[in-house]
Amino acid sequence: MTAAPTTGPDATTEQAALDADGSDPGWRELFVVPPAEGGPYPQAAYLVGNSLGLQPVATRADILADLDSWGRFGVEGFFDGERPWQSYPQRFAASMAGLIGAGPAETVIMNSLTVNLHLMMASFYRPRGERVRIVVEDNTFPSDSYAVRSQARWHGLDPDDAVVRLRPRPGEHHLRTDDVVDLLRREGPTVALVLLGAVNYHSGQLMDIPAITRATREAGAVSGWDLAHAAGNIPLQLHDWDVDFAVWCMYKYLNSGPGAPGGAFVHERHVDDPAMPRLEGWWGTDAAVRFRMDAIPQPPPTADAWQVSTPSALGLSPMRAALDLFETVGMTTLRERSIRLTGYLERVLDDIAASRPLTVITPRDPQQRGCQLSVRIDQGDAGEVARRLRHEHGVITDFREPDIVRAAPVPLYSTYHDCWRFADALTRLLP
Ligand SMILES: *Cc1c(COP(=O)(O)O)cnc(C)c1O
Repeated sequence: MTAAPTTGPDATTEQAALDADGSDPGWRELFVVPPAEGGPYPQAAYLVGNSLGLQPVATRADILADLDSWGRFGVEGFFDGERPWQSYPQRFAASMAGLIGAGPAETVIMNSLTVNLHLMMASFYRPRGERVRIVVEDNTFPSDSYAVRSQARWHGLDPDDAVVRLRPRPGEHHLRTDDVVDLLRREGPTVALVLLGAVNYHSGQLMDIPAITRATREAGAVSGWDLAHAAGNIPLQLHDWDVDFAVWCMYKYLNSGPGAPGGAFVHERHVDDPAMPRLEGWWGTDAAVRFRMDAIPQPPPTADAWQVSTPSALGLSPMRAALDLFETVGMTTLRERSIRLTGYLERVLDDIAASRPLTVITPRDPQQRGCQLSVRIDQGDAGEVARRLRHEHGVITDFREPDIVRAAPVPLYSTYHDCWRFADALTRLLP
């Protein structure tokens, strides 16, 4: 066996891409790849795994097995059979814990991202005195923006004052860590919560999570991270980095299906704190006494205490195949292939940027990004470019206001040839 190459191909020809797929193939055959809507190739070049990850081939059998359990056991399916549904959240939380550098007791699978963000803020955003502000990136995902603004209002504050939006310096595309740290040093006593996307959904920038978390805690504020674009994309060490809480969805890089339940991380130092306020329900009480229906809940000293209601067995079902794949391949191996693939995508885009109106706005340093590159279309309508890429060339990317086409080669199933097709189609579409 030969070792995997350390970089993708230098040459930008189609043959070089095909050769690279021969020597560094990934795990594409384990996924269902959509057909192309246009162009000469049967399969789509699917570059939107940052939006909805592809379906693992094994998922269908898992869902059918859960339907069979429902048919055979009825409600007893929660407890009976080879895969009792009651065990699902903890089982998948244990796998997820490995991917984010957390302990199983710090990880819970439940609800969906924005709901979990609200549940976390119910516990961790407690404005007092002058310490009331929430710091977010200016280009934060809209749902996160709505969530923090509504939390400010919920506490009787004016969201325009309470929410601080971090902007890059004029003419720059990314936040500088030093600028974030300086702001926290200067204005620390007014900040209650810093809530940033670990990988920004728009620019693709990977933030310096340990440095910003440290500065946040030194400022006396709570450190929350949105891992929507980081979980399953980059290696994380949430426990060691001393993050207070995090939330994520399972349907992007984690391939658990459209609208799959999400996740939350609560640092160990908070899970056993009896003074911690929470919004509670029966699934947040210890499983051993859950059915006693006591009037007073008995939350376990784990992140499970934040679970509110009955988990969706069918919603959780795809996590089995999806997370088994991550465990088999390993995040380190995936990240190495990811750096090779995205580096190659950057080279083919640079190659055409010399003669076509486009600019890659994602950081150039592989340590400051995940697999996504955000391409600014400098002339013409980026939305129209994304539509034509899909319908005429079978290349699926997505458009983000005002002029960005996002492309994310996912190391589990994307290929060098997918990247080449994207660049080749762009040369045909752009003036
Ligand atoms: C995808 C994404 C979401 C989605 O939130 P849901 O509650 O799952 O709909 C939220 N925040 C960020 C940063 C995202 O990228």
